[in-house]
Amino acid sequence: MICKKCKRDLPQSSFYKLRKNKPGLRSICKECQYNEIKEYRKTFEGKTSKALSNARRIAKENNKNLSHSFSVDEWRERVLGSNGFCPMCGNSVGILILTMDHAVPFCKAPSGFIYTIDDVQPLCPSCNDKKGRLILYFF
Ligand SMILES: [Zn+2]
Ligand SMILES: [Zn+2]
Repeated sequence: MICKKCKRDLPQSSFYKLRKNKPGLRSICKECQYNEIKEYRKTFEGKTSKALSNARRIAKENNKNLSHSFSVDEWRERVLGSNGFCPMCGNSVGILILTMDHAVPFCKAPSGFIYTIDDVQPLCPSCNDKKGRLILYFF
């Protein structure tokens, strides 16, 4: 059986089953699947910490002494908990596409406001744009 990704001819035991106790094997080998998951995690980790540092930077530029009291891990859990769905339009866009929306936009936040994990939410990029300056909580 040839792996779709690495094109190697491998024995069936090198492929995971599609479903437990059912016939049918995945089209990419175990090794390729493992690499895909690793790559996916790396991309997600990178995106997650970038989103948070971006938010911190913009909050700083607002000159209102705004801060964030949550960690990258908490934000990651929030995004993972959404299962890739945007709560505003209900579309499944995938966890790599969801962006960090501040329920209370920086321009509307009172001076010294501290954003907790409950004040940010994953939204798809187009809903994040549409929401703009509105104060909206989806969770
Ligand atoms: Zn392979
Ligand atoms: Zn959306």
